[in-house]
Amino acid sequence: KPKAIIIGAGIAGIAAAIRMAIKGFDVDVFESNAYPGGKLAEINAEGFRFDAGPSLFTMPQYVDELFKLAGKNPSDYFKYEKLDEICRYFYEDGLEITASADLNKFAHEVETKTNSTAQEVNTLLKKSETIYEVTNRVFLERSLHKIKSYLHWDTLKSVFRFGQIDAFRTQSQANQAFFKDKRIAQLFNRYATYNGSNPYQAPATLNVIPHFEYHFGAFLPKKGMYSITTSLVKLAEDLGVHFHYNKKVAEIHYKAQGGKQQVEGITCNGEFINANIVISNLDIWFTYKNLLKNFAAPKKLLQQERSSSALIFYWGIKGIHPELGLHNILFAEDYKAEFDCIWKEKSIYKDPTIYVNITSKHIENDAPEGCENWFVMINVPANNGQNWDALIAQARKDILNKFNRILKKDISNAIVFEQILDPRSIETKTGSYQGSLYGNSSNNQFAAFLRHANFSSKINNLYFCGGSVHPGGGIPLALLSAKIIDQDF
Ligand code: FAD
Repeated sequence: KPKAIIIGAGIAGIAAAIRMAIKGFDVDVFESNAYPGGKLAEINAEGFRFDAGPSLFTMPQYVDELFKLAGKNPSDYFKYEKLDEICRYFYEDGLEITASADLNKFAHEVETKTNSTAQEVNTLLKKSETIYEVTNRVFLERSLHKIKSYLHWDTLKSVFRFGQIDAFRTQSQANQAFFKDKRIAQLFNRYATYNGSNPYQAPATLNVIPHFEYHFGAFLPKKGMYSITTSLVKLAEDLGVHFHYNKKVAEIHYKAQGGKQQVEGITCNGEFINANIVISNLDIWFTYKNLLKNFAAPKKLLQQERSSSALIFYWGIKGIHPELGLHNILFAEDYKAEFDCIWKEKSIYKDPTIYVNITSKHIENDAPEGCENWFVMINVPANNGQNWDALIAQARKDILNKFNRILKKDISNAIVFEQILDPRSIETKTGSYQGSLYGNSSNNQFAAFLRHANFSSKINNLYFCGGSVHPGGGIPLALLSAKIIDQDF
């Protein structure tokens, strides 16, 4: 059997391992942590369970597809539910919007509680659908870096419709035009943060993202987000994939052959291990910096602005808080000032938008009786050596004050467990350059073309998957990066 080595057991690495095993390769995955999943990990402590990273699950069909490809029944491995409620939004002026998955209900709520109309919501979501139709096949499911992708009829059709993807104004400009009520524009501007970008800079093409939630739906795995990782690892193992944990790969080897370089294998713990193909799931920045040290790196691509990072407080909370649902947003009053602070001052804003995810609302054993597991996250800049300890101490106070103002509750006394993740620990735990969550930012209209390809144009049989390469960050796109590699076999 030909041999494939995957470096990193992030979600894309696991997906690539499954796909290569199905294609008949003997697959070994080398992971530097003691556990699989990378960013898609979990924390268990003092009776609380937290998903450490992603909490929003969209496009579950990309996960199911892997089980089906292997001839298995997805629900034998992995179960999830479609959510009736997408998110609860809280504003400083007292407005509360519950975004129902039922579009009519959501649009009606917007119309009755704000100066915007149901029609405005429907128009935005129609636009969102159009952008999806034009971009899906071109940007998401194929390599942007191969001529044959452009010769495809679907691609050509999309190229003729490029004018419809709204790339020449910012997302915030578009949403200001769509919505009379600036609070609803703010609600839709937030989608830029789904890939770590700034709605005041990023193209309105990012208005494609609401389509994922309102058309395909928002979901929650029955056993929490981490079960995406564990069930795919189980599938991979059933297909014969070998996972090697606590194995940090030090180098990718290649040799000249027929006028081109050819991948040969890797070094791990001082041992050379040969392979016919190598797929790196590392952040592309570290793949070049650490594993291909003597190779000329594509400097321009690697110097792109990184996406934002996050500060997360995992709080075990005493008491049940019915005003909050599974997903909640407490908005900053001045959203523009918040993004200016993150992107220009590279600091944490004093009135941050707070995201609270509470899986114990749906998953019984995620918190002890009478308690809840709060994942409290704010957007922060990528790590450039800021004084994080001081910034985190201040942010903790600002967050608690905001809960006080909006929920009219002093949460500080209810915290019975606390753990913190910040840009520094995101970098050390998951190997993400500067702790960015989604690789490069999408803050300009060319960003989609400036992500690294899923293959090396200089070294044969060396491939790249994961959130830092094409088509981008987030679970669905990371899974698609493995699918694009698969198209070569
Ligand atoms: P990663 O998760 O980046 O994993 C890479 C793996 O490589 C790691 O396990 C690492 O240990 C390993 N590695 C590194 N160096 C080496 C080496 N030298 N040798 C061996 N192994 C190595 N996405 C969503 O879709 N929805 C969300 O709600 C969401 N929220 C997020 C919230 C947070 C706090 C974070 C951190 C991310 C979030 N994301 C979300 C993004 C999503 O988690 C990522 O895009 C996705 O998980 C990236 O997967 P990946 O395949 O690139 O691998």
